[in-house]
Amino acid sequence: MVTTVALNDGTAIPQLGFGTYLIPAEQTGIIVGKAIEAGYRHIDTAQMYGNEEGVGQAIAASGIERKDFYVTSKLNNGNHQADDVRRTFDETLTKLGLEYLDLFLIHWPLPMLYGGDFVSTWKALVGLLTDGRLRTAGVSNFEPAHLERIIDETGVVPAVNQIEAHPYFANDGARQASLSHGIVVEAWSPLGQGAVLSDPEIAKVAADHEKSVSQIILRWHVQRGDVVFPKTTRPERMDENLQVFDFSLTADQMRAIDALDRGEVGRVGPHPNDFDYVPIG
Ligand code: NDP
Repeated sequence: MVTTVALNDGTAIPQLGFGTYLIPAEQTGIIVGKAIEAGYRHIDTAQMYGNEEGVGQAIAASGIERKDFYVTSKLNNGNHQADDVRRTFDETLTKLGLEYLDLFLIHWPLPMLYGGDFVSTWKALVGLLTDGRLRTAGVSNFEPAHLERIIDETGVVPAVNQIEAHPYFANDGARQASLSHGIVVEAWSPLGQGAVLSDPEIAKVAADHEKSVSQIILRWHVQRGDVVFPKTTRPERMDENLQVFDFSLTADQMRAIDALDRGEVGRVGPHPNDFDYVPIG
């Protein structure tokens, strides 16, 4: 049974979902369909992933009621201007075949683009909350200074900050800044895109619990209070990754995994202050 986490806007989010980064568009309907069969109801996609249609097809084909799903998408880097926020949000809903989206995020702050004006982007995204088609507004890859700025200049605190976090990169700066503002942390690449799965210390903890390394890592995230959505294309791993709510790590085991943090060298993705990729078209 997946637990839920309360958000600062009065809504709640399932603590574990299904990630869809790098799932090819033409396979997404089938793979997300398998994830739904396995029991996933929270799905994380993005305009940038090019697979929103497949996510929508899988949801429609499941026959499960809309209200039982929690669907997140993210604003693409080329869409930060206010008109593009509104226009592409409409496109996202159309591609997903949904009347409302649970959570929409600014995917990257892009402080070096758009004259550094991610505040206007945030205002436009918050503006989507007014007509019922968006339930919750959040950000992704926002560093502490980015959070301070949007909060100071708009007075609106994001409900979530989706940031890279896993045992090799705890990302304490962005994580603690988020938590101090009452923002729930979503940990992207919770398995370090696979890098953490061969860790010998976590293997020892896994042996103690008769669980897999992946299950121990996901349990560590859950016990920290963060939201996760591991990605896998394999049904047996979809099942495995869901089974993390029937055991607990001890305080010593949590500390042993905390101690694996490598700081900046542990990152698997780009630093948000440097990332300026804008897809063509
Ligand atoms: P993950 O940390 O979820 O790792 C995925 C990798 O781990 C895949 O290679 C997968 O392989 C493997 N894997 C998954 N489960 C298991 C298991 N039980 N045993 C062994 N191997 C396993 O990486 P992601 O980068 O996909 O992150 C998760 C999600 O976070 C994304 O899909 C996306 O939704 C989101 N994200 C958001 C970003 C942002 O900027 N906001 C950036 C990156 C990710 P296989 O498929 O072969 O099983």
